[in-house]
Amino acid sequence: MTTRVWDYLPEFAEEETDILDAVRTVLRSGRLILGPAVQSFEAEFSAYHGVAHCVGVDNGTNAVKLGLEALGIGPGDEVITVSNTAAPTVVAIAGTGATPVFVDVGDDYLMNTGQLAEVLTTRTRAVVPVHLYGQCVDMDPVLRFAETHGLAVLEDCAQAHGARHHGRLAGTMGDAAAFSFYPTKVLGAYGDGGALLTARDDVDRALRQLRYYGMDKVYYVVRSPGHNSRLDEVQAEILRRKLTRLDGYIAGRRAVAQRYADGLSDLTGAGLVLPTTAPGNDHVHYVYVVRHPQRDRILELLRRYDIELNISYPWPVHTMSGFPGLATPRVPLPNTERLATEIFSLPMYPSLPRHVQERVIAALHDVFSEL
Ligand SMILES: *Cc1c(COP(=O)(O)O)cnc(C)c1O
Repeated sequence: MTTRVWDYLPEFAEEETDILDAVRTVLRSGRLILGPAVQSFEAEFSAYHGVAHCVGVDNGTNAVKLGLEALGIGPGDEVITVSNTAAPTVVAIAGTGATPVFVDVGDDYLMNTGQLAEVLTTRTRAVVPVHLYGQCVDMDPVLRFAETHGLAVLEDCAQAHGARHHGRLAGTMGDAAAFSFYPTKVLGAYGDGGALLTARDDVDRALRQLRYYGMDKVYYVVRSPGHNSRLDEVQAEILRRKLTRLDGYIAGRRAVAQRYADGLSDLTGAGLVLPTTAPGNDHVHYVYVVRHPQRDRILELLRRYDIELNISYPWPVHTMSGFPGLATPRVPLPNTERLATEIFSLPMYPSLPRHVQERVIAALHDVFSEL
């Protein structure tokens, strides 16, 4: 049987009664859109983070897009982010009409904050740090830079639910933060979902209008054409149940990461680079990304073991044909481009069975003996 890089079925087997009860609860409630489940989830997700407002939306891409729009970003503006991210970060920025501008990443795969000043122009309006793979960007330099130059900060937390940076939770440090509940994420729905956090009343108000056609819900008047980007009641009720188990999911991911670190440490002498945790970070291991200069050969040799491995991400966004205008970044991105040729991801999810993980570790040892 194929070993999958991610699989929700073992978790569903454990949680089936609760998940089906969540579905039944919503269907029997008589409210299917923006009802009590969304309202409760928003209250619980903001309480978990200790942030005043949470606004549920339909997915993480639109969370980034609506977040930027609520912060006043639009055509003519520039938004600084990274090219080593899930493409939707950049799709969402472009979707506001703003221009994405990239800085490079460090060996920890995260935004090189030292380069922010190099790409600044009079059009720069916002920074979108991406807390990639489950750990936070070094936020102090980002926040200082934004404050100095009057920029907004929108954290992309799609991969970092529950991650901490010097004790602060991801999503509590910028003007607003965007989350995805795509099923693979650390907090995943049984379908699409997303949310934003913000401490700012004005941003909260703008987001609630933007997700509801641009209407204010008192007079049902469109104030400025918005979107239909609502979080679904069924997904919200499922997310409420799963939020109570989030810390457990994270503990499970950390245990899997520790077993990889123990089982693979002897291969670091042969050039395998395991994930590191930057100082001050508590990693939630959304994905377990390793790297090796002979990545493609390793993946080829692994094929006979029927183990599915992902690459997150094989193409830096600026090299994608859909963004011809971004093909020549303002500063060179040598690390981003090199890492993309070396990285690959091992199976990672909290319910990953131990014997399956051991098979992966053993297969890697076999393959490395043939390199
Ligand atoms: C998953 C992801 C998104 C997009 O979320 P969707 O819910 O799939 O729209 C955005 N940014 C990052 C970093 C992601 O990993």
